[in-house]
Amino acid sequence: MQRYNVPRQAATPIPREQPVPQRPAPSVPTPPSVDPSSNTKESQLQTKVVPTSWGKPLADELTEKVKVSVRPNVGTTVAVDQHVPGAEAHHDAVLFLRGILSEGIRRGISDVHFEPRVDSYAIRFRVDGVLNKYVERPRDQYSTLLNTVKVLADLDIATHHLPQDGHIELVLQEIDRHLSRQIDPTGGAAEPVSMEGRKSYYDIRVSIFPSVNGEVIVMRVLNRDNALLSVEELGMDMMQLEQLRGMLVTSYGMMLVTGPTGSGKTTTLYSILSELKSQEKNIVTLEDPIEFHLDWLRQCEINEERGFTFEKAMSSVLRQDPDVLMVGEIRDPSTAEYAVRSALVGRIVGSTIHANTAIGTIARMLELGIQRSLLAHTVNGVIAQRLARQVCPHCKEEYEPSQLHLAHLGLQKAPGPYLHGKGCDKCGQTGFLGRTGIFSTLVFDDRLRGLIFDQRPLVEIQDYAIKQGMRTLKMDAASKVLAGITTVEEATRVV
Ligand SMILES: [Zn+2]
Repeated sequence: MQRYNVPRQAATPIPREQPVPQRPAPSVPTPPSVDPSSNTKESQLQTKVVPTSWGKPLADELTEKVKVSVRPNVGTTVAVDQHVPGAEAHHDAVLFLRGILSEGIRRGISDVHFEPRVDSYAIRFRVDGVLNKYVERPRDQYSTLLNTVKVLADLDIATHHLPQDGHIELVLQEIDRHLSRQIDPTGGAAEPVSMEGRKSYYDIRVSIFPSVNGEVIVMRVLNRDNALLSVEELGMDMMQLEQLRGMLVTSYGMMLVTGPTGSGKTTTLYSILSELKSQEKNIVTLEDPIEFHLDWLRQCEINEERGFTFEKAMSSVLRQDPDVLMVGEIRDPSTAEYAVRSALVGRIVGSTIHANTAIGTIARMLELGIQRSLLAHTVNGVIAQRLARQVCPHCKEEYEPSQLHLAHLGLQKAPGPYLHGKGCDKCGQTGFLGRTGIFSTLVFDDRLRGLIFDQRPLVEIQDYAIKQGMRTLKMDAASKVLAGITTVEEATRVV
């Protein structure tokens, strides 16, 4: 899908065999809303609330909400005056979807799942890494919702038995405090959100996957504003920041970021690129898929289906004259080989790789067939990371963690105090609000390169690195527990 355009199909979200109504191009916002309670200046979606089969009060409340909160962008032109069979249901589905997304975004979701079951379908939100059911809806509405999502994401409506991946852009126009309070669809006391009519841009990555109960929709919500954290905002302490900056002063070499899926590796990589941005460098990225669209990067999307593989891209990307090359992920020997070679001929190469620890990355690269000598001399540093939920600042209190968990972090002798959140409205009773990175940074200095070259055991390499100031993930987690940033249990869960 085009980044700033509504897909053509969005104008006509109807079954394909039906005649397509003649409508003007969808890029012009519809006339201002007549809603007098809205005080945003942005053009509003012109809606009259149609009696729907979407169920009350949820649909009405959500419709009410999106009318004032979402700028026409996703499927803007699904207007109610379209006298087309099925159009009204799609219109409602679009509004419903927008309501779900804006509500989820208000709660800080990273993903939303639409999960068909036998008699119903569930909508589940992932917030701070944990998946919770938001609402369950009647099953008979699911196919309309599914088709609408497919249309918006530029996918094939007729395909039901194969996975499909797509992309939707969502623009949210923030709304008035007073209004946001009224329309919490759960009926609870919604927290008024601080709003100034600012627009936020979201990239929604859509994955549709067949299951025995029907096609499951999973949407990953990426806020373009959050996509770009500066390195200072990642959650590193002064020493780790200094180590990171030290790795970036050279004009060639590799930076590897490692951790499991969902550990924030890509965010870290982008923050490193934005740190390099100021240096008038040509930065080229090879990604699969592109998670955040950023104007100042030359971003290239790998498309294995069409034969544009990492291997093919890597074999010719150097002719694009990059100073900095970001490779989404090193996952096979040939990509690893090309990445190392690119670093060797004077490029800064940044990539992610699956390994458990910073030291473990050395083993992983060797396993991918990289020669020790090349590895030792091209890598500048490795950052291992995890994401941990932060204690909610609004309801934090001292508590007594279990000895077992303390021992896991090596804190059995530390007196505390330890903090956790007891749960409040602001954190949805979870006791957590937001996340921070847990880091372990391994700097490749001459001695460490020598140890790798000499085939010394990883334990010895780790001991040396710790003497030079490296913290293991566990050590960093423990220090964040002692600083009251996260809880003992949360730290234990992630490291
Ligand atoms: Zn709280």
